[in-house]
Amino acid sequence: MKETSFVLRGGIAFSESPHGITTYYRGYVVCVDGICQGAFTDLPEEYKDLKLYDYGERLIIPGMTDLHVHAPQYSFRGIGMDAELLEWLSTYTFPEEAKYADIEYAKKAYEYFADDLKRCFSSRAVVFGTMHNEATIELMNQLEETGLITYVGKVNMDRNGGVDLEEKDAEASLQATIDWLEAIDGKFVNTKPILTPRFIPSCSDDLMRGIGKLSKERNLRIQSHLSENVSEIAWVKELVPESTSYANAYELFDTMGTPECPTIMAHCVHSGEEEMRILKEHGAYIAHCADSNMNLTSGIAPIRKFLDAGINIGLATDVAAGSSMNMIKTMLITLQASKMYYRLVDQEVKPLTFEEVFYLATVGGGSYFGKVGTFKKGYEFDAVVIDDSKMFSMRDMSIRERIERMCYNDADAIIKDKYVRGKKVFTSTTI
Ligand SMILES: [Zn+2]
Repeated sequence: MKETSFVLRGGIAFSESPHGITTYYRGYVVCVDGICQGAFTDLPEEYKDLKLYDYGERLIIPGMTDLHVHAPQYSFRGIGMDAELLEWLSTYTFPEEAKYADIEYAKKAYEYFADDLKRCFSSRAVVFGTMHNEATIELMNQLEETGLITYVGKVNMDRNGGVDLEEKDAEASLQATIDWLEAIDGKFVNTKPILTPRFIPSCSDDLMRGIGKLSKERNLRIQSHLSENVSEIAWVKELVPESTSYANAYELFDTMGTPECPTIMAHCVHSGEEEMRILKEHGAYIAHCADSNMNLTSGIAPIRKFLDAGINIGLATDVAAGSSMNMIKTMLITLQASKMYYRLVDQEVKPLTFEEVFYLATVGGGSYFGKVGTFKKGYEFDAVVIDDSKMFSMRDMSIRERIERMCYNDADAIIKDKYVRGKKVFTSTTI
């Protein structure tokens, strides 16, 4: 029997829409050749010969997608949080990323990153490397080993990075990108390249245009940052004076993508009506980074407005401006941020519900990878098994209540096993 065909039994929870969480107490979820066949109260006859793994009272939820995380920043997560974006970049981020010119340093640092990503709630991630080809290939090698499915980008930056973190010019940056793409061509199954212009202040007009062209020629997706911080937005307006908004500046360089080849834009904290229209028209994804946006005093993105407008949204940790790769914690901060937006900024914008945030962490970001993020039939089988037995309570709790409790108080929820496309990529040795 195939290793990627089996049945899991336990407390199952997943989203079928943003408005509800479907649950099964002691239910079954079936995986055949890495593809989910659905969840059931009683196991259908046709699956009775498959190997059954009974997880008892443990919870089984879909793997989560971290839509925006910086691997080389993992080493300084949780420190330097008194700065705002531009100071934070020049004081902490750029000096750290410059160290990745040293492949031995990169190798060691990425081992910690890849190992911790394997152990957390994410089964998929979209990752920034640095501008260094060798280090980025090393990162891809290590992520491939984890069994997780990722997009990884060699960063483009030919201005405002300082002497140690700046490519010579647009031509050199584009050539390095082509060299990187050739070096990894056909090498990976789980790890895909994504074009990664850091943000407009880091990339000359020629470089941005070149990346737009490369994306079209090779059908490659793009990730970048948009409207995170007010000083950054003012700077972009100076750099691209003909633009009508920051998103329009990306549009002018042909880097906003298409629904078939969608661009991810991290943050969108200060995106107004025009940027919302542009994001929607291009089928772009917003990577919502609530933890990061609080830490760097950037603000709160009005996710309710984006949701209502039908824009694609996923959640993201944005380490190291976000303090950890824990997507459950990211869900919590997303909820709290949306409540404060409602209370302090705009009472027309209702807070996100727990159901909506669970949906964004699983299906919202998962959809960037295709049919990913739920236990509906036909979806790729990514699952996380969670032991919450240490969370003592006198109450009899529903599966939905246990998931919510885990989000608001995650300290005692332990990941037991993690599956990606039906392959077990992690198992806890402590429980
Ligand atoms: Zn970022």
